[in-house]
Amino acid sequence: MLDTPITFLKGVGERRAEAFRRLGVLSARDLLFHIPHRYEDASTVRRISTLRIGEDATVIGTVVSKGVLPTRKGLRIFQAVVQDASGLIEASWPGQPFLDRAITKGDVLLLNGSVRFYHGRQLMPREWVNLGADDAGTAEGRVLAVYPATEGLSFKQIRAIIDKHLDALVPAFDEYLPADLLRETSLPGIQDALRRVHRPASVAEAVRGRDRLAYDELLCVHLLQRRANALARQVRAGIAFANKRKLTSQLKAALPWELTGAQVRATREIVADMTSPLRMHRLLQGDVGSGKTIVALFACCLVLENGYQAAVMAPTELLAEQHFRTFSRLLAPLGVEPVLVVGAMSAKARKAAAARLAEAGPVLVVGTHALVQEGTQFARLGLAVIDEQHRFGVEQRAMLGEKGASPDVLLMSATPIPRSLALTLYGDLDVSVLDERPPGRRPVTTALRGESGRERVLEFIETQLAAGRQAYLVYPIIEESDKIALKAATTAFEALAAGPFQHRRVALLHGRLSSEEKDGIMRAFRDGAIDLLVSTTVIEVGIDVPNATVMVIEHPERFGLSQLHQLRGRVGRGGEESFCILLGDVGGESRERLRHLIETEDGFAIARADLRLRGMGDLFGKQQSGVPAFRIADPVRDEELSEMARRAAERLLAADPMLESSPNRALQRMLKARYGRALELFRVG
Ligand code: ADP
Ligand code: MG
Repeated sequence: MLDTPITFLKGVGERRAEAFRRLGVLSARDLLFHIPHRYEDASTVRRISTLRIGEDATVIGTVVSKGVLPTRKGLRIFQAVVQDASGLIEASWPGQPFLDRAITKGDVLLLNGSVRFYHGRQLMPREWVNLGADDAGTAEGRVLAVYPATEGLSFKQIRAIIDKHLDALVPAFDEYLPADLLRETSLPGIQDALRRVHRPASVAEAVRGRDRLAYDELLCVHLLQRRANALARQVRAGIAFANKRKLTSQLKAALPWELTGAQVRATREIVADMTSPLRMHRLLQGDVGSGKTIVALFACCLVLENGYQAAVMAPTELLAEQHFRTFSRLLAPLGVEPVLVVGAMSAKARKAAAARLAEAGPVLVVGTHALVQEGTQFARLGLAVIDEQHRFGVEQRAMLGEKGASPDVLLMSATPIPRSLALTLYGDLDVSVLDERPPGRRPVTTALRGESGRERVLEFIETQLAAGRQAYLVYPIIEESDKIALKAATTAFEALAAGPFQHRRVALLHGRLSSEEKDGIMRAFRDGAIDLLVSTTVIEVGIDVPNATVMVIEHPERFGLSQLHQLRGRVGRGGEESFCILLGDVGGESRERLRHLIETEDGFAIARADLRLRGMGDLFGKQQSGVPAFRIADPVRDEELSEMARRAAERLLAADPMLESSPNRALQRMLKARYGRALELFRVG
């Protein structure tokens, strides 16, 4: 019954089934796991007459008139006047004239948004739901479930369909959590949870139900990842390197500074992995500037002194070059010469590099994805290091690992995430953390300045340039269209280059340039041939220009906190005092959010705040791949549940690795039904 395809359920035809598929709902089971993302409680609904300007409020009212207004600027605005028993208010949707078709006179709307003054009180809906023509009574006095919807399938239709099938489907769910476990969590049973989520009597009740379903999801993911982990270890025979302490000791002696405690710890963890006969699969994460590169270099030296090859892959030529220079400099006293492999190389250089890789001798090669392209062959790859790992696809990461016979793999990431999230996202990786900064770094002074302070900010940049320093000025990419950002950056660039900075060397960097052009500009900046770099976004996150001391960020409210922190990490790399200035008139919630950045330079704390405030999507941007999909749980917001689930998974599998004892069998069946792949993980081994 639960496997019935959604198309066959009453009230769902072909067209709606198609829309359901877009929402990930394929079967009757999926339908019940399509849970509301929000509830509106009648107790939170305000009477329209009581709304005050500047407030945020939810109201329910009937549309008494509506229409589309053109404006002088060409923007078209949909407006509707809604009425409840207490009064009227105008609601306004700029730029959404198409709503004229979705909303008709007589419809009851539930609106949530801020009230502003515009020829009287006007509501700017942030969220809204069309309850249809007949829903005025039902919305009051009960909790309204709001479902994620899609084109051709409204929230209201979904609610009606679920409502129709709920009583018949719920009894088909047998409890699958072992009784002890369920008791221990004190969460509701599965049938109870499903009822509470879809037809709650109060929001608190709905939340309890949701927690149970979120817990299940987290438990499944932890079970799968632990199981995959155990299997991977069984079959992952690797190379057992010997810790000869030759090159590594020489490197340590040749370093111009002491390693930080965190670097020593991470290096030890890596060496332990590499000297064991199992294959290393480790993520090294550390804030910008925490010194990951040198840790990777120690791992490479261990490989070289064992007569193997080591490869370091970076996402851009510029970064690859930067690593190449660093390595060449640090390894020179050891008599080791690294090899560079990038796309833009003369045929001769490429051939020379290929020849060195084809010999079975020890080589350290640094490069871009050119390293994983077919032409590149390694005679004896022992270690693959992948810098800024989230900028590579899963395939590219895997391909480098397959260039040798089970080389050890070290991934590096500058987006530090809380350990609990790392465990959930990368269950199959071991994690080392650099949570300490190299000594002698001066903190970056961070401040927010409004438009009225713009002049002074420009003057400040000038004093820094006059002192021989360099500066960045960054514009955000605006969602959908980076055209606007480009225009803003271009206009600013022209105005600055012709005006206050006409005696300085100013350059413009943006996403429309070819990668050679971008690299060219970044190189010139690195070499001090550019004083002020205006950019739509600083593309090179890992770039190290110690002479740059000022980072000015326009429209800081448009960035995630972690992104801002990464940008800030571009300065404060030399001995000079550095500054990060957030420029713009930012108010309200955004201002609060930016306070986190101003008050701390701890990347972990910032990532945590970012996750809490804006969810997971923003943290890695669109570049992240390979993150498991959670439908209900959010591993960050549900950290406690996740931790509970992680411990439960550990215990369950320790006692019953295949989940085949009778109390666990229902759980195993559920895993199989919901995550088809799971079966294989539990069959092998
Ligand atoms: P990231 O972790 O962001 O990749 P890098 O490895 O590029 O950071 O290191 C940032 C800077 O810090 C580099 O200039 C590097 O030489 C320097 N550095 C690394 N470790 C130390 C240390 N222990 N003491 C002083 N400086 C260090
Ligand atoms: Mg780096």
